[in-house]
This record gives sequence, structure tokens and C-alpha cells, in this order.
Amino acid sequence: MPTLAERFAAAYDQVQVAVEKAERVPNSVKLLAVSKTKPIADIEAVAALGQTDFGENYAQEAVEKAQKLAHLGLQWHFIGPIQSNKTRPLAEHMDWLHTVERDKIARRLSEQRPAELKPLQVCIQVNISAEPQKSGAMPADVKDLAALIQTLPNIELRGLMAIVENTADEAKLAQQFTAMQTLFDQLKTRYDNVDTLSMGMSQDLQHAINHGSTMVRIGTAIFGARQPRQSN
Ligand SMILES: *Cc1c(COP(=O)(O)O)cnc(C)c1O
Repeated sequence: MPTLAERFAAAYDQVQVAVEKAERVPNSVKLLAVSKTKPIADIEAVAALGQTDFGENYAQEAVEKAQKLAHLGLQWHFIGPIQSNKTRPLAEHMDWLHTVERDKIARRLSEQRPAELKPLQVCIQVNISAEPQKSGAMPADVKDLAALIQTLPNIELRGLMAIVENTADEAKLAQQFTAMQTLFDQLKTRYDNVDTLSMGMSQDLQHAINHGSTMVRIGTAIFGARQPRQSN
């Protein structure tokens, strides 16, 4: 069985190869190591290999890990659904939030972000497949939400995040990736601080990178399979 170090190296290489195949600039896509449910020791091991950015899905777990590993100076990204009554710990302890989807959450995060910290870096999650059970702002609402975020002092808009539909329908996937790329390009021309398209996971990595992704989120391929867990 491959070791954690071997799995991390393979995932890292996979991203670089996909970037090359897409004929994009080397190092233009960042690997976010999704460590949800995984123990602190695994994060320390991957951090020791040079990985700086880690993604978490559950608020309490994310905050605990960020606090315990504060001495390592890692960047903590929250990529799970944000409940409006749980914004404060996230505002106080995360570096990035990928899943801002409405005005109320954006306002609260800015109010609750301690002013002495660097502004919280945020992406707007877009429900690009328009699936009713999925989180995210509708594409038509992105422009207004982005404009609001630009006015808030303690959060900084960095871009967009999407989870495309889980389907084998290539035409549908291509349509969703293209739609995200277009939305991202529009936002980038409007705001200088926008530079991040958080899109792509293990199975759709190449597709996402072909369509302008700048950050791919990989969990299982690095840390191994997760135990089933109830979301909190
Ligand atoms: C869990 C998760 C990932 C990583 O998924 P894997 O299948 O473990 O690679 C990526 N993005 C989001 C939003 C997730 O919740």
C-alpha cells in the first residue's frame, strides 16, 4: 500500500501533469489538501512535505485543527456549508472560506472577523448545476453578491467556487465548466483582487484545469478513504 507521502506526491504530480496538458503556466493551479475527518498527525505529515493549504468541511473540526496547528503557519480553507449561527468561529480562525453564498453570511463574516487579522479571503460558491439540493448562489446572483462583498471591510473577494454535477454526461459537464469559466472571467475583469477559481476534485481534475481552475480540492487520493460521518 502506498504511504501518505507517496499518495501526496502522486496527487501533486497529477495536478502538474494536468496543468501541462492544458498548456497552462506551470504552478498556476494550487493543490488544496482536503483533510476533513483525518487526524492531526496526517496533516502534520503532509505539511512536513511542503503543503501549506488545507481544506476542512466541518466548522468545529476545522477550528480545532487550525488552533492545534497554529504554530505551523498553514492556510486553513473552509469548504463546507456555512450555517449562519456558526459564522463566528470560522471568521475568527479560518484564512479562507470557499462557500459564501448569500448577503447575510457575507455581512456577518465581515462583522465577526477580528479587525487585527488579515481580511478573510472568500470565494462565492456557485450552484452551477442548479440542482435544488445543492448549496451555492445562482449564477444570476453572483454579480450583486460580489459587489456587496467588495464593500465589506474585513472580508476580501478572491473568486468563485463550484462543485459540478456528479454525472457521466460529458456535454452537461462541459457546459457547467464553461459557464464557471465565463463567470470567473467576468468577475476578474471587474475586480483586481479576484484571482481564484476553486473547481475540480480527483475525478474531474483535468476538465476543471482545462477550464481555468486555479485551485483543485483533493482529499481521498492524498489521505485515503474516509469513514462515513454525519455532517454537523
Ligand atoms: C470532501 C470534499 C472534497 C475532496 O473530496 P475527495 O473525494 O475526498 O477528494 C473536495 N471538495 C469539497 C467541497 C469537499 O467537500
